[in-house]
Amino acid sequence: MVNYAAQGDYMLLGVIGDPIAHSKSPAMHLAALAALGIQGTYVPLHIRPAGLDDAIQAMRALGFRGMNVTIPHKVEVMKYLDEIDAAALRIGAVNTIVNDNGKLTGYNTDGIGYVRSLKDEACPELQGKHIVVLGAGGAARGIIDALIEESPDRISIVNRTRDKAGALAEEWISRGDLRGYGEEEAEAVLQHAEIIINTTSVGMHPQIGAIPIPAAHIPQGIVVSDLIYNPLQTELLRQSELRQCIVHGGLGMFVNQGAYALEYWTGVAAPLQVMRAAVLDSFTNNST
Ligand code: NAP
Repeated sequence: MVNYAAQGDYMLLGVIGDPIAHSKSPAMHLAALAALGIQGTYVPLHIRPAGLDDAIQAMRALGFRGMNVTIPHKVEVMKYLDEIDAAALRIGAVNTIVNDNGKLTGYNTDGIGYVRSLKDEACPELQGKHIVVLGAGGAARGIIDALIEESPDRISIVNRTRDKAGALAEEWISRGDLRGYGEEEAEAVLQHAEIIINTTSVGMHPQIGAIPIPAAHIPQGIVVSDLIYNPLQTELLRQSELRQCIVHGGLGMFVNQGAYALEYWTGVAAPLQVMRAAVLDSFTNNST
């Protein structure tokens, strides 16, 4: 890893999105920069779709070293970049841009961030496992792409719109045993699950009582993971704990996608604990 931080330049970083005011990324990255002793800043930038092209040009002109990209720009931004990393191309979305002297490269750290968090916090070995992914949206694409690299036995994708699950399984079938299902087939598929991952928005604030599958369909003692981090403990995780499952929430994914981005920008290992604490702190100060 090249240590860009050691070059001593003031490091300009930021996140573009619409809306952006509630983003936890500035608090997390500012804490990380301070902990690493790097001179720099990380700013939230409210960029509407019509301003995306100009914002990316400005990144070059102003000398931003890096940018995170969030909703709704993750797909659209790709056409303004000079290069796109292979995983981001497969996923079809970019959440991190690195600026090397005016050359902008797009990466997707959501999937690899998720998998690092899952392995560190809940399930060190994914090889040979039957993983059931609930949902087939943008987040599912990122995490399934990264999960495939861990050689699971099978990934079963269950989605409300069955065709989307089928299409995603079909797209990547040459890379592993992927199968798509509709919600009516979920009960049978879940019986053989060793890991369940919720990538749907069901259970997210303010619908905190909602659950994406009936609790009775969760096998006892397996690993259950939820990408949602607001609330930190979703109804799915609460019910899974009652069934003696190992549970894993979405905070670790958020922290690790940010950590990978910071590592790409700075070339030094990210202070994960500091970053996690900063996000938790910003929840305490702003509970929505
Ligand atoms: P998305 O592209 O809009 O996909 C949403 C998925 O949820 C689709 O599969 C959709 O099914 C399903 N869904 C939505 N409402 C549903 C309902 N009422 N019943 C059943 N299924 C439903 O969204 P995304 O970007 O993938 O994000 C999904 C979740 O991941 C969000 O909660 C987001 O906060 C979380 N996330 C967390 C992190 C993190 O860092 N922890 C990062 C990214 C995303 P259909 O295809 O049938 O519409």
